[in-house]
Formats: sequence, C-alpha cells, structure tokens
Amino acid sequence: MARKTPEDRTRMMRAFKARHTEPELAVRRIVHQMGYRFRVCRKDLPGTPDLVFPSRRKVIFVHGCFWHKHGCKLTRVPKLNRKYWIPKFQRNRKRDARNIAALQAEGWRPLIIWECEVRAGQDLSRQLRDFLQ
Ligand SMILES: [Zn+2]
Repeated sequence: MARKTPEDRTRMMRAFKARHTEPELAVRRIVHQMGYRFRVCRKDLPGTPDLVFPSRRKVIFVHGCFWHKHGCKLTRVPKLNRKYWIPKFQRNRKRDARNIAALQAEGWRPLIIWECEVRAGQDLSRQLRDFLQ
C-alpha cells in the first residue's frame, strides 16, 4: 500500500474527529437533562474543555480514546506510519497533562469522560452528578 500523503492524514484526522463529537453530544444531553447549565468549548481555557460550568469552576472533557490514548481497545495504533502516529500520540498525552495541570492551577476541577464509557452505554449520570454537586 502506498504511503499516506499529508492530505490523506488530514482527511483521516477529520474523519476521526467528526466521529468523536457523538460521545460529546451524548454527555451534553445527560448533563442538560440533569438540569445543569454549561458553556461549550471555551477556547480561553487550557485544552478547550467540552463542557464548562463557570460558577462551579468545573470542566468536563469528553476524550476520544484514539486521540488521547486511553489504553482501552479503541486505542490501537494504526499499523501504517507508526513513526508518525506514536510521537503524535505522545504529544497529545503530554498536551492533555499540561492542560489539566494548567486548569487546576487556575482553580478549575476537571473531569474526563472517555468515549468508550459513553459507547458502552454505561450510566454516567451518577458519576456526573457526584462531580457536579
Ligand atoms: Zn477508552
């Protein structure tokens, strides 16, 4: 198989990222149904958290397992271009850790919900309520 061009990679990334909005919407729906108000994707906060609760100073990230290297079965590294993917994943992980540290330094409490938890149909409402209370 031919090597992937940068254009191919961009296309692949878009496809992955688009799919990852689905778990994010599911989490938003649950939190909304629980009656909490939130802002989405505040770009002024480290890592652009997916849900932001300003008065509670809490944020939620809904992480795609592939991009954020969760370690579950959705985390596999593509067989092609491992030299490209492995450092990329390492950078993503480092960036995530930096963002969490920066948020905590500013007094925010972060929660990470993983894509696989949403996909498994796990009941997230208790975890979310415990976190938001
Ligand atoms: Zn996962």
